[in-house]
Amino acid sequence: MKVLITDHIHQEGIKLLRNSGFSVDEKYDLSKDDLKKIIGNYEALIVRSKTKVTREVIEAGNKLLVIGRAGVGLDNIDVNAAKEKNIKVINTPDVSTVSVAELVMGFMISAARFIPQATESLKKGEWEKEKFMGMELSGKTLGIVGLGRIGKALAKRAMAFDMTVIGYDPYVKSDENIKMVDLETLLKNSDFISFHVPLTDETKHMISSKEIEKMKKGVILINAARGGILDEIAIKKGMDEGIIKAVCLDVFESEKPFNTILTSEENFIGTPHIGAQTEEAQQRAGIEISKKIIEFLKGIKG
Ligand code: NAD
Repeated sequence: MKVLITDHIHQEGIKLLRNSGFSVDEKYDLSKDDLKKIIGNYEALIVRSKTKVTREVIEAGNKLLVIGRAGVGLDNIDVNAAKEKNIKVINTPDVSTVSVAELVMGFMISAARFIPQATESLKKGEWEKEKFMGMELSGKTLGIVGLGRIGKALAKRAMAFDMTVIGYDPYVKSDENIKMVDLETLLKNSDFISFHVPLTDETKHMISSKEIEKMKKGVILINAARGGILDEIAIKKGMDEGIIKAVCLDVFESEKPFNTILTSEENFIGTPHIGAQTEEAQQRAGIEISKKIIEFLKGIKG
């Protein structure tokens, strides 16, 4: 059977596929038309987030049995079109949990201690010690919205920093270690709020002006989940009004092209969607997606 890989995955994963007897072609930066032309030769397609696996591509995949996404989000795959053709779609949701949780810890410390702003200032030749009066994480309350894989991994790390952790997740009624509260209680009591929910109709702009008005003055917000959960215009207003002290974003309402009104805020800290961008997460993703594809195809061959 033939496997086509169109986005870079870890070499360890590719080795596993070849050692299991599959013929593997790596073809990167294909145009949509080129992908449509060749997809008919393959039983499996492996992508990350770059390749757009559209309905047209799926319909051209006459032999296609499985599409593997090394990573979590399936935004770039027309899952409904795949389902209609009985093509299995597989992803690796666990591989980046620790990487994202660690990025959030980095964001919290950076915002509390002004690390990016102080670095910028030093690079300009300044020595502004008084300006950068920070605060400790210890003893502060972290509100986590969405107690799934990443939310729980973050809670564990925050507790090791002596933070009090509270959580809001309508689908998780109780947790051994985290006090579950309603959203309003979380907004009112948190010094830091971090979002770890999927982007759905329910979560789109779940934080807008009405919610910001309920927050503790000086709150620090973090979103490393999906752009659009926070209403960026309302966040800017909340910062200008002094309610929100800092906002740390790895994800944005507009990523490609990148655009946010928050870059004008001194206490905006941002990264270009790098939550899963670690050696470890990428290695795990490459290996896990290959193992899952091998298992699936071998299952079909019987
Ligand atoms: P998960 O499915 O394990 O957890 C999501 C949690 O959100 C679930 O417990 C669910 O019950 C909860 N939830 C759903 N709707 C909710 C609502 N309206 N209010 C509160 N909670 C709600 O997912 P995960 O692996 O922890 O990932 C969380 C988010 O992080 C996802 O959006 C994912 O796409 C994103 N992510 C981002 C990166 C990155 O590069 N920044 C990497 C991996 C994952």
